[in-house]
Amino acid sequence: MICTHAAGQLRRSDAGSTVVLAGWVARRRDHGGVTFIDLRDAHGRVQVVLRDLDIAGSLRAEWCVLVTGEVRERPAGSENPNLPTGEVEVVAVTLEVLSESAELPFPIEGFDEITSAVDERTRWRYRYLDLRREGPARALRTRAKVTSIMRRVMEANGFLDIETPYLTRSTPEGARDFLVPVRLQPGHWYALPQSPQLFKQLLMVSGLERYYQIARCFRDEDSRADRTPEFTQLDIELSFLDEEDIFGLGEELIASIWREVLDVELPTPFARMSYADAMRRFGSDRPDTRFGLELVDLTALVAGTEFRVFQAEHVGALVVPGGASYSRKELDGWQDWAKSRGAKGIAYLLLDEAGEARGTITRLEEDTLKAIPDAVGASPGDAVFFAAGGRREALELLGALRIAVAKQRGLIPEDRWDFLWVTEFPMFEPISADNVAVGESEQGWTAVHHPFTAPVPADEADFHKRPGEVLSRAYDLVLNGMELGGGSIRIHRAEVQQRVFDTIGLSREEAESKFGFLLEAFQYGPPPHGGIAFGLDRIAAIVAGTDAIREVMAFPKSSSGGDPLTGAPTPITPKQRLEAGIDKAPEQQ
Ligand code: ASP
Repeated sequence: MICTHAAGQLRRSDAGSTVVLAGWVARRRDHGGVTFIDLRDAHGRVQVVLRDLDIAGSLRAEWCVLVTGEVRERPAGSENPNLPTGEVEVVAVTLEVLSESAELPFPIEGFDEITSAVDERTRWRYRYLDLRREGPARALRTRAKVTSIMRRVMEANGFLDIETPYLTRSTPEGARDFLVPVRLQPGHWYALPQSPQLFKQLLMVSGLERYYQIARCFRDEDSRADRTPEFTQLDIELSFLDEEDIFGLGEELIASIWREVLDVELPTPFARMSYADAMRRFGSDRPDTRFGLELVDLTALVAGTEFRVFQAEHVGALVVPGGASYSRKELDGWQDWAKSRGAKGIAYLLLDEAGEARGTITRLEEDTLKAIPDAVGASPGDAVFFAAGGRREALELLGALRIAVAKQRGLIPEDRWDFLWVTEFPMFEPISADNVAVGESEQGWTAVHHPFTAPVPADEADFHKRPGEVLSRAYDLVLNGMELGGGSIRIHRAEVQQRVFDTIGLSREEAESKFGFLLEAFQYGPPPHGGIAFGLDRIAAIVAGTDAIREVMAFPKSSSGGDPLTGAPTPITPKQRLEAGIDKAPEQQ
């Protein structure tokens, strides 16, 4: 090391020591003949006093320097209680400029909060400068701590860290693959894995019993605020297990992270809720249970109504306490909100203090209208919103409204960690424009998790006869309305697997060509097994105190796609296209 101490770690007990420090000029202040700089390194900053050093006047922000000097206590009254090194300063004897800095694209100092006035693209474009700032660097340190805790807990539980290939073939998550052309076999392509799913199942056939990997996953989906084309999972698989093993392990992992990073002791076991209850009560498969505002089912109450709007498979309601005071403009705002989600609008009823009702459903039969406030538990002064339509779509609309209303009215307690295992997901769902996997026809059924997920024992014998009603052994871990992870107990019997493929319309040939190697392996005594994958980026972001997963990625892609730093993706040269077999040589055309 060319330095003896870390600038940010100097304390009063170091007073009197001669030190050599290396770091960056964070700030410079001139005070009549004396220059002060804040010298910053990975551990923090310390004040350096430069007297009679010619170089002092020419130093600029973010130059990299080497300082030799003596640590002393600051003169009484000039201590800085906001700085861990604030009791001391370093009186420089020499200062060597190691390298100068060009003019900065944005100031490094002066805004240490994690996001700032600088726009995202510029931050990612100059991420190496962005990471000189305390907040962004702290987020990466928190991530490293999370990763290290994960590894420790997994190893303490006897799991082996095993790497699986990145150059492989399509995996079953159903998103679009990133493809890699292969020079040595023109016309043949690797796919980057959407997860290590198939390999981790093969490792169970191998008898390794306990696998984990901090695995990069690649999914060619539209970039969004909370989605990036590559992301990291803590990927886990184990043999001879049941759901309790996964829940126990997941709780140990999460509780350790919250304890060691946030100093929060989480109560375990976490709550559990079936998918059916989550949808019925909260209109979501990842319900935010920090607040009430539960949905009410009115389908039975309005059955047989002449009121056209309510002649639907499902009619549900959400009570907004105090919502009767919504202005015309606010009510129009909710209509626009509903339309922006693809609904026709949202019906409502306002109950004034005298209990009189007005709104868009007053043409409902009088008896039914009168019965509504009691049925939904509304009081004078409340508003009631209604959604009618297909069951799932009506519930999801009200579920989203519940969150929007709670946010708008400040009903979400910010200081709670509501962890929840959501269990017993449906095994299949009808294919729709939203969930059609690449290569699937737009009719029939698709697997809700992935096609290796086992049905619950009660449904195992005849699930293929009633795919719409069957439950699977899939589970998700949810925190405050966010999904942190998900997995399932897998199918390990060929006959059951075949019936799943039949149900989702995957022919033997297709199954053979997509997953033939796994099915072949399953002929050799596969053990019962299952697993889970936790979103490492999401978990790290939460404990780092940010909503944005990009903040815990060293070099993130921007939300509009692409990497502003390297400029990737870029076109390739005609020669590379030829070599990759994308273009044919002129003589072959
Ligand atoms: N491979 C699944 C996923 O990435 C997780 C699992 O089933 O273990 O979502």
